[in-house]
Amino acid sequence: MPEGGPADHRTVRLVASPRMTDPTGEETPDPRRALPSVEHVLAALHDSGLPHALRALTAREAVDAARATIAGGDSVDRAAVLADARKRAARTSQRLLVPVINATGVLLHTNLGRAALGADAIAAIDDAAAAVNLEYRLDEGTRGSRHDHSGFLLAAAVGAEAGLVVNNNAGAVLLVLAALARGREVVVSRGELVEIGGGFRVPDIMAETGTRLVEVGTTNRTRCDDYARAIGTETAALLKVHASNYRMVGFTEATSVAELAALGSHVLVDAGSGLLDARTPWLPEPPSWLHDEPGVRQCIDDGAAIVTFSGDKLLGGPQAGVIVGRADLVAMCARHPLARALRADKLTLAALQATALAYLDGDASRIPLWQYATTPVADLRARAAAICAHVPGSSVVDTEAAAGGGSLPGLTIPSAGITVAVDDVDDALRLLRLSHRVVARGRDDRVQCDLRSVDPRHDDYLAAALRDVGVAEA
Ligand SMILES: *Cc1c(COP(=O)(O)O)cnc(C)c1O
Repeated sequence: MPEGGPADHRTVRLVASPRMTDPTGEETPDPRRALPSVEHVLAALHDSGLPHALRALTAREAVDAARATIAGGDSVDRAAVLADARKRAARTSQRLLVPVINATGVLLHTNLGRAALGADAIAAIDDAAAAVNLEYRLDEGTRGSRHDHSGFLLAAAVGAEAGLVVNNNAGAVLLVLAALARGREVVVSRGELVEIGGGFRVPDIMAETGTRLVEVGTTNRTRCDDYARAIGTETAALLKVHASNYRMVGFTEATSVAELAALGSHVLVDAGSGLLDARTPWLPEPPSWLHDEPGVRQCIDDGAAIVTFSGDKLLGGPQAGVIVGRADLVAMCARHPLARALRADKLTLAALQATALAYLDGDASRIPLWQYATTPVADLRARAAAICAHVPGSSVVDTEAAAGGGSLPGLTIPSAGITVAVDDVDDALRLLRLSHRVVARGRDDRVQCDLRSVDPRHDDYLAAALRDVGVAEA
């Protein structure tokens, strides 16, 4: 820790604290002298794997905590200080970004980084790490635009005139509203004023962009007439939001993009998750659990002026927000100052380009999301049986996987995995996370791993990890 760093004030305070005296006024031995020095604790953290500056910070924190304990009248010995320092170092290591095995069965788990990228996307990131023609035209040798790459590919993939890529879909919605509707009205159905998670609420985003929200219809039913009556001279657009993380069932009615487009205002669609094309031409046959998911291509065909969607949730690519639609409107978005603030970096654009090319080739095998989602249950059961052969107390189990934590509700994917008998399920799950970096789930006092979200290359590793936490059943 360099002098003047964030931990220094504590040292100063402790040095200045009064020496302890007993009621007779005689000095007693200072228990703080029994504490190890910061240097001593630092040396004990040598094999923690942390860089020196973090070890020094951790050592100082452990010594400071011990001094505070002593000042509070309790005693602390050297061994306890060293043990505390090692615990703090371990906690610091656990804060670092590390790869984990997603055995939750949720393919696009937001807490686990959503989509796993395939070999093509990873290779593209690797290539783009060096110099690339990010904003450079190779034909003319002049300045180009970073929107020339993935944006036009994704527009082509959905039959739109133009496309633009930003940091994420929340950013895409923000940019579209700011560029196309600031100071004017946007009409939204009361049934679509949703919160997506992570603090993304449609009314808040609208307020942030200075657009005036005009709510129409009711929570469960909004008719074309409701929109038509709300349209006036101040109307900038009609916005449809895909309620991707919840489903309304029963007495419901919504208005289609085609009906809205016929009303004459711009129709903006925030598809979020959903599908690039509802016909899924990249799959031999569309799986039944996908029925009902809106397609970006169909929204464009039906007359949407702009559609926004998520690069990871919808495409199975990197985190990104995609804006496709009419060329003049996409150009207005690209020119807006927020486009600069929200722009995607070259590594994202490289991975997104690889993902877009796979879709344009109709080749879902290059996209792990689709590989995982379409693996036959029989294959998963066979993998589970192979793992179970190496794990005492385990058995093959049928499970329900899901495309997203909140993205495709009520549409689970039949799946299979392994359950393992353990002494204590919370302890076992914690050991799996910390010692093996496996994120699994507890079910009925057993540990359960769903194989639909696990790369088959990790099966042997997973077997070894489960062997470590499992107990043979009596
Ligand atoms: C997920 C989602 C968002 C936010 O997308 P991010 O890529 O997570 O920023 C916005 N709108 C809808 C409808 C969504 O499903």
